[in-house]
Amino acid sequence: MSGPRPVRAPRGTELSALGWQQEAALRMLQNNLDPEVAEHPDKLVVYGGTGKAARDWRSFDAMVRTLRTLKQDETMLVQSGRPVGVMQTHEWAPRVLIANSNLVGDWANWEEFRRLEQLGLTMYGQMTAGSWIYIGTQGILQGTYETFSAVAAKKFGGTLAGTITLTAGLGGMGGAQPLAVTMNDGVAICIDCDPRAIERRIEHRYLDVQADSLEHALQLAVEARDARRPLSIGLLGNAAELLPRMLAEGAPVDIVTDQTSAHDPLAYLPVGVDFDDMASAAAKDPAGFTTRARESMARHVEAMVGFMDAGAEVFDYGNSIRGEAQLAGYDRAFAFPGFVPAYIRPLFCEGKGPFRWAALSGEASDIAKTDKAILELFPENESLHRWIKMAGERVHFQGLPARICWLGYGERDKAGERFNDMVASGELAAPLAIGRDHLDAGSVASPYRETEAMLDGSDAIADWPLLNAMVNVASGASWVSIHHGGGVGMGRSIHAGQVTVADGTKLGGEKIRRVLTNDPGMGVIRHVDAGYDIAESAATERGVRVPMREG
Ligand code: NAD
Repeated sequence: MSGPRPVRAPRGTELSALGWQQEAALRMLQNNLDPEVAEHPDKLVVYGGTGKAARDWRSFDAMVRTLRTLKQDETMLVQSGRPVGVMQTHEWAPRVLIANSNLVGDWANWEEFRRLEQLGLTMYGQMTAGSWIYIGTQGILQGTYETFSAVAAKKFGGTLAGTITLTAGLGGMGGAQPLAVTMNDGVAICIDCDPRAIERRIEHRYLDVQADSLEHALQLAVEARDARRPLSIGLLGNAAELLPRMLAEGAPVDIVTDQTSAHDPLAYLPVGVDFDDMASAAAKDPAGFTTRARESMARHVEAMVGFMDAGAEVFDYGNSIRGEAQLAGYDRAFAFPGFVPAYIRPLFCEGKGPFRWAALSGEASDIAKTDKAILELFPENESLHRWIKMAGERVHFQGLPARICWLGYGERDKAGERFNDMVASGELAAPLAIGRDHLDAGSVASPYRETEAMLDGSDAIADWPLLNAMVNVASGASWVSIHHGGGVGMGRSIHAGQVTVADGTKLGGEKIRRVLTNDPGMGVIRHVDAGYDIAESAATERGVRVPMREG
């Protein structure tokens, strides 16, 4: 009988599938639903509002069953979280091909999506939820750490010491914010309306303390700021109420952002609804709830703009809150920028992005060994060294031990090949699953986030993620996915993911070399095509072929 139950990936070297490529997919699917990893495992929801790993429990069981018997020359096809076919392919082909939440353009809105979801025809795959490479909050921690480092470099002399950051949302992704701020030596006030989200982040040591009230939060923040002592403070409440209040009271805030689930109006708590009644109110009247949530988001964004006008550094952290506020009629919603054009695009131009890997052995010592290998491979990269050291000390593993760090073109393949050698030599206890977020250099079209304000105006061109998925299939990735609507919601993004397994074989090594060269290579060529000088230099220096630059 299919139904909710605790799921945990097997550990160790005993295979329950016919090979490590299939075993890796099986373990990573199960790992996404591990109660330590997933936000609502009983509903198959991994993170990001309603981002799921499987459509329903029957589909989950069918995928597990199929992966256990899938041969080395077979490929399982997954349509929005349900396995729909097994086809004979070949050894270089991915073992799993995934398409999640895709809708034809004119139908690509939440209303139609929910209608189809209700009929059991689709599911929301978010980014790494439906493509089985979510590694818990650490996954976003590195990106958030990079972003706050860039804010520090741009505006505060390279450190957040002596500053106060105000944000909301302590969920699967947003929960990384407090630790990312304190890793940059700053003070953070983090609002969430769900007491469990606050408790969970304190338990995982991502958040330091919870304040009893707004006054208490400000008092703690100012004391820590004045002592230039890093501190993160959780505050229970509704951001749409608290931000306008803080602005009106002149709260001394230096940086403002937000990671509530604004991309999905049914996952954002409107003012006037109690948190305990949120789910039933959203289910009873989705249209009315959406209107109220958008109105609240408009007040929330208006307060963010107010803080910007008062001199704070304000940015949208990729959750579509500006778009939703605009839909509610607030006309200055886009007065502040998204985080990608503001801080991250120069990294994307060099193919840099969130490279990650998980130890299928379940052994933390495997990750410690890979950390050491990364430090040896890139001795000159100081911020990478700082991150790996801090991550080793402060990151609490959720599910299978895993690590993330941002590496670019010419770096990821080196790391991947070294990892494969470490598996082959027996230095690591078992193979690694090497993947990345969909939020990467050349794998996403998302005009409110990764491709906002592209130099050539190509923000909404979605050919790039499709080419990215195809090149990863052609290069030998273990599983490849194409999704719609992740991060910013229906109609607003198309993106692709890949995972490649370091299984210690010669063939595995060949695949890794190609995939981990071509995948970040998409970032370089995408930004060369859009006219970015940094990408041009990266292509020239590292020998990336771009036909339009030749001849
Ligand atoms: P989540 O659903 O796990 O958590 C959202 C949190 O917001 C919940 O804890 C919820 O209680 C809280 N919340 C909702 N309404 C609120 C309100 N009015 N006031 C205070 N708290 C409220 O989502 P997540 O995985 O943390 O993702 C958050 C958002 O960030 C999503 O929109 C996601 O798409 C986006 N995101 C951004 C990036 C990035 O790189 N910047 C990456 C992934 C996701």
